[in-house]
Amino acid sequence: MEVAELHGILWRLIEADGLEIRHNARSTQPDPLESGFFHPDLYGFGPTIQLWRNRADTVDDHAQEVVTLAHEYGHALSHRRGERPRLVMPKPAPDLTEVEKQMVEAEEAQAWDYGRAVLKDLDPGYDFALFVARKADADREYTRRLGRT
Ligand SMILES: [Zn+2]
Repeated sequence: MEVAELHGILWRLIEADGLEIRHNARSTQPDPLESGFFHPDLYGFGPTIQLWRNRADTVDDHAQEVVTLAHEYGHALSHRRGERPRLVMPKPAPDLTEVEKQMVEAEEAQAWDYGRAVLKDLDPGYDFALFVARKADADREYTRRLGRT
């Protein structure tokens, strides 16, 4: 399947599942290292996935955004299944307790696992090379932010 087609199918699946996807201009991005985030109830408006793009209304790169959407949707699934330990997860930082650090790492791993399963289900021929690279980058960044190194 073409990645742009997969992007459309994933997008519609997420919206049909009751999440609002908002795509914002990069200039409003609170954290330059995050390409998206999931919030179960942002400002009381219900579950949402926020995306950042160079221009709000134009997909920068369908392949990259598919990975972002799948990962953030993985957080939504973890939340829905009652597995997300806190409504709002603590920001990764060196001064979190060990329990909190493990909680953050487990939730990230869970979101990647669920995202992977969704993509595999939607497109059995999906090439996971970019997904794996993005996960490795994110894992390194979390390790750094949690002061693990
Ligand atoms: Zn995440």
